Amino acid sequence: MKQNKEVLIVGAGPTGLVLALELAYRGVAFRIIDKNDGPGESSRAMLVVPKVLESYKKFGLDQTVSEKGIRPEHINYYVKNMKKSAIPLGRLGRGQSAYPYVVTFPQDEHEKVLLEQLKKMGHSVEWKTAFDSLEKIDDMNKVVLKKQDETVTGLFDYVIGCDGASSSVRKSVGITFSGETYEEIFYVLDAVIDGKITHEESGSFVFVEKYFALFFPLRNRQTTRGIGMFPPDLVRSEAFSFEALKPRLENEFSITIQKKNWFSDYKIHRRTADQFNQETVFLAGDAAHIHSPAGGQGMNLGIGDAVNLGWKLAAVILDDVDEALLRTYESERKRLAESVVSRTDNAFKVMASQSKVSQLIRTRVVPLAAFAAGQSEWLQSQVFKVLSQLYISYDESPLNNQGTSKLKSGTRLPYADGEQFEFKREAGWQLHYFNEAPDFSLFKKEIPVELIRRRWTDKTSKAGFEKDYLYLVRPDGYIGWTGKPGSTKELFDYIAVWIT
Ligand SMILES: Cc1cc2nc3c(=O)[nH]c(=O)nc-3n(C[C@H](O)[C@H](O)[C@H](O)COP(=O)(O)OP(=O)(O)OC[C@H]3O[C@@H](n4cnc5c(N)ncnc54)[C@H](O)[C@@H]3O)c2cc1C
Repeated sequence: MKQNKEVLIVGAGPTGLVLALELAYRGVAFRIIDKNDGPGESSRAMLVVPKVLESYKKFGLDQTVSEKGIRPEHINYYVKNMKKSAIPLGRLGRGQSAYPYVVTFPQDEHEKVLLEQLKKMGHSVEWKTAFDSLEKIDDMNKVVLKKQDETVTGLFDYVIGCDGASSSVRKSVGITFSGETYEEIFYVLDAVIDGKITHEESGSFVFVEKYFALFFPLRNRQTTRGIGMFPPDLVRSEAFSFEALKPRLENEFSITIQKKNWFSDYKIHRRTADQFNQETVFLAGDAAHIHSPAGGQGMNLGIGDAVNLGWKLAAVILDDVDEALLRTYESERKRLAESVVSRTDNAFKVMASQSKVSQLIRTRVVPLAAFAAGQSEWLQSQVFKVLSQLYISYDESPLNNQGTSKLKSGTRLPYADGEQFEFKREAGWQLHYFNEAPDFSLFKKEIPVELIRRRWTDKTSKAGFEKDYLYLVRPDGYIGWTGKPGSTKELFDYIAVWIT
């Protein structure tokens, strides 16, 4: 089908690149620009969660990222240089996903993998091209772009701001970025470090009374990545340099920093855009939400935005589905972002607060809780669920029907260990059934939904499926509609509104 809509993605960080891949995969033409002259060169976000690996399956990137990154076996918990506990990450996610692990993979390498894949799919980023301003002209967005000394304009039906926390797209349409900036100053350090903590195979949280750091190894670089909070007394005296910090880290964490490769200080914010969508302009990733890196959720959340928006844009542009589908992007992702920002904010406050109670929680209560989590499979699976973003569901989405099944629409299609269909997760619309498939020939036109007959096993039963139900699954792996084979009319009504 010929595309008569113009799409502009602003920003080629992880969010913009994954959105580009989603559109390319679904056959949508687009332009992607970035003001920089190439991809980022610092490690920044490290954690890649199973929900993202599930989305990467269709690009063949699930294995690439899993193999290039490190699968940490534990999260260690230290108070000063004493190891208090180790939560076994390696087996946390058994039975929850085809990827029952998290991967640490530096963001710069991650972006290169995404760029290579985009190239293979016949697309490239227009570097050194900055979004400058946007003006509405009828239904179109007139965008001014700056290419070095040249100023050019273009008309676009859809503009997606994936241009990071200081988003020019967000500012150009006057969307407020509500929230606050924390007083604490953080640092990120890539260095050759020696010490008990860095001899660990996996990441280690280290707490002292007044501050903390997280260290983990970087494969192929023979280096350790540390992120942490500047000691409060250094903040008070505005001594934010590596030179001021180094003796403190060496002394209090019992390490020797032999060679510094990269060091940066930064402030942490908690902010969410008041709108993720204004008419035909959308915000995704850090342009829409930023929060503390505690728990490594930020980049993964942005990638999730891109996946959610990508298939919806494709459906509206290529299949002429009603624009109402695009409105569900904000209703699904904004609520989620607000809850992640609020949860990480609470965790951050406990981790960073200087109160006696928080110090006690960090150095006494958390090690005990971490020890308990190390002993309890149930606790481990709960930790994994949150960390992995597999818990995400869209309970109040307008895309849901009011089915009577136990598995409600809006929830992620559960994983039932080892099934063949996992190879197709998140490809396109699918109807999963166990007994009887509906007769699609009764529908007035061709239905772009793949019928998938599932085997009825102990695992599907345990995962919550019911043998006599149909499950219509969205292209992002969430259940859209559930019903019995007899509810063909309701199913066809749903398909007519949201799919074709
Ligand atoms: C030091 C540091 C450490 C971090 N550590 C972690 C971590 O451990 N875990 C975690 O989850 N997150 C971490 N983050 C956050 C993580 O890096 C971001 O969440 C992630 O990069 C967001 O991706 P994005 O694509 O939405 O935005 P960005 O990565 O910011 O990409 C935005 C892109 O837009 C481009 N751009 C901006 N303005 C324009 C314009 N006007 N025109 C054209 N292009 C434009 C930029 O050049 C950039 O390439 C860290 C960030 C920093 C800075």
